[in-house]
Amino acid sequence: MNAKVALVTGGTRGLGAAIAIALRDAGYRVAAVHRSNADAARAFKEKTSIPVFCWDVSNFSACADGVRQVENEIGPIDVLINNAGITRDAVLHRMSPEQWGDVIGTNLGSVFNMSRNVIEGMRERGFGRIVNISSVNGERGQIGQANYAAAKAGILGFTKSLAQESARKNITVNAIAPGYCDTDMVAAVPKDVLEKIVATIPVGRLGNGGDIARLVVFLADDAAGFITGATLDINGGQFMA
Ligand code: NDP
Repeated sequence: MNAKVALVTGGTRGLGAAIAIALRDAGYRVAAVHRSNADAARAFKEKTSIPVFCWDVSNFSACADGVRQVENEIGPIDVLINNAGITRDAVLHRMSPEQWGDVIGTNLGSVFNMSRNVIEGMRERGFGRIVNISSVNGERGQIGQANYAAAKAGILGFTKSLAQESARKNITVNAIAPGYCDTDMVAAVPKDVLEKIVATIPVGRLGNGGDIARLVVFLADDAAGFITGATLDINGGQFMA
C-alpha cells in the first residue's frame, strides 16, 4: 500500500465527487468528506467504494478530529483538495449576518481549518499538495454573491501566502477557479438565468466534473512540483484574468 492518500472535502457530490473518482483512478487512496446529504454520500460510497467521512469543515475541532480519523484509518494525508462550498445568495442590502457567516465559514474558514490540520504533517514528511477550489466569481465579483465572492477571493490570497511558506518543504498550494459547471449548486440557478449565463461562455457550454478533476490530478502529481501559488482558470473562456 504505497499509494499516496488524498482527502477531498465535499467529495461525495458534484465537482468533489468527480475529483475523488479521478484521484482514485489515478492510484490514490482517497477519502471523501461531506456534511449533511447522507443519501448522496451512501450512493457515492456504494458506486465508488471510496471511504466517506462526515464532518462540518467550517468547524476547526471537527476538522482536527476528522483528519485524525482519516489518518488512523487510511494514512497520512499527502494531498488535500479543499472543495466543499455552499451558496447563500442575496444582494447585500438584503443579506443577513447568517448568510454572510455561513458562506465565509464554509467556503473560506474550511480552507484554514483543513490546511492547518494537515500542514504540519506535510512539512514533517517533506511532501504535500493542496488544491483550493475558488471560483470565477471570486475573481470578478457577482451580483448577489458578496459573501461567496469574498470567500472565493480570500482563498486566492490564502493560497499564495501558504505557497510561499511551504515551497521549501516540497509542498505546493494552488487554486483552481472554475466557471459555471453542471452540478447541484448551479441547478439551483433559475433556467432562464442559466441560459443567459451559458450565452456568455465562449465555448458554449457549462463545465463538468471531468474538466476540473483532470487539472486536480495534474496538480497533485509529484511532477507538478514547480507549479505553486497559481490560480488556474477553467471557465470556457468566460473570464480571462
Ligand atoms: P455541490 O453543492 O454539488 O456539492 C457540495 C459538496 O460540499 C457536498 O458534498 C456537500 O456535502 C459538501 N459540503 C458543503 N458544506 C459542507 C460542510 N460544511 N462540511 C463538509 N462538507 C460540506 O457543489 P459543487 O460541486 O457545485 O461545488 C464544489 C466547489 O466548487 C464549491 O467550493 C463551489 O463553490 C466551487 N465552484 C462550483 C462551481 C459550479 O458551477 N458548480 C463554479 C465555481 C466554483 P453534502 O452532500 O453533505 O451537502
